Amino acid sequence: MNRAGTTERSSAPHAEADAVVPAAPEVVNVPDPAPIPAIAVRALRKSFGTTEVLHEVDLTVQPGTVVALLGPSGCGKTTLLRSIAGLERPAAGEVTLAGRTVSGPSDFVPPERRQVGMVFQDWALFPHLSVAQNVAYGLPRAERKGRRVDDVLDMVGLAGLGDRLPSTLSGGQQQRVALARALAPRPKVLLLDEPFSNLDTSLRTRVRSEVHQLLAELGITTVFVTHDQEEAFVLGDEVAVMRAGRIVQQARPAELYARPVAAWVATFVGDANLVDGAVTGDGAATVLGRVPLDGAAETDRVQVLLRPEELRLDPLRPQPGVSQVRATVELREYYGHDTVYLVRPDGGDVLRVRAGSAPRFARGDRVAVRYVGPPAVAFAVDTG
Ligand code: ATP
Repeated sequence: MNRAGTTERSSAPHAEADAVVPAAPEVVNVPDPAPIPAIAVRALRKSFGTTEVLHEVDLTVQPGTVVALLGPSGCGKTTLLRSIAGLERPAAGEVTLAGRTVSGPSDFVPPERRQVGMVFQDWALFPHLSVAQNVAYGLPRAERKGRRVDDVLDMVGLAGLGDRLPSTLSGGQQQRVALARALAPRPKVLLLDEPFSNLDTSLRTRVRSEVHQLLAELGITTVFVTHDQEEAFVLGDEVAVMRAGRIVQQARPAELYARPVAAWVATFVGDANLVDGAVTGDGAATVLGRVPLDGAAETDRVQVLLRPEELRLDPLRPQPGVSQVRATVELREYYGHDTVYLVRPDGGDVLRVRAGSAPRFARGDRVAVRYVGPPAVAFAVDTG
């Protein structure tokens, strides 16, 4: 059978030149069936004592993708990750791994039989065991003396360091030992809890890129927990934003940034100006004049999302026939790669404006400010 589902023609010579050749079967294009998710979490609930910390959580992770669980401290990210690993027993709901139910009303597969590798926030290395012994710990006894340990250490860039104790390694190297230990038994799924939080800022970006590279090469399905938006966007093929025990939105980073489903998500995943708007037709009247809207607004009064990089400042010069929104620069923050201005339109609230690298304006300057972005996202304002 070939990929189209038809039978390959035989290359064997025909016995009889005038043999009847059967008509070729009709090729029907059947759409590919939806892939079975590597991880599917459905209506998961978990309580500690009387406090419910996961409320009907749904999460889908496709094979070979990296999903970031992003949310503020205490929202339930680690509890969800541990529930996928089998380290927590949910009160209700279901977890399936590659279509197999590992946690449900009548099933609970223990962690060691889920083929899941987990890297804990503090890495949880055994200080008295060598690097190689730490990695071997995750393997079945028969494989501990074989090549697998060296192969995995090589894979994470730690070849030759197997005899060292973890305490003699840098933070980045220790983290790679923890990764190697999780990867050694060839898990189907890798779960990382705040993988970079133990590293200082200077090391963090480098180690993050190394791990990113490794995950991309391995193509292993991964879920990692973070409260850092940049980390989630850089590493995640998709980001699931959590708040107070619920997943509020799961999407690709660019989609999440451009079309957050709620004002809270908009501000959590980046700098955001939310300005009042009165809907008229397919736009809204705002402090910056009329702004076109992306889709129909649900209410007459809305909050319009204006990202700082979608605002432009110009020197204030009278231009006959052109109406300008006048504003004053209240603060300038220079970051090297760009400059953020805090600008107050006359009679309005302060807006953040992100501009190119060379600072053009100073505190106190009078400027004109305008919106130059695509049709903007608006959030309903409950006026009831
Ligand atoms: P952080 O980013 O701070 O690690 P998180 O989003 O990962 O937070 P969780 O660690 O899942 O949040 O915790 C969610 C809530 O559940 C918190 O209020 C926490 O105090 C509580 N919690 C977590 N584990 C337990 C436990 N074993 N016993 C009681 N309460 C717990």
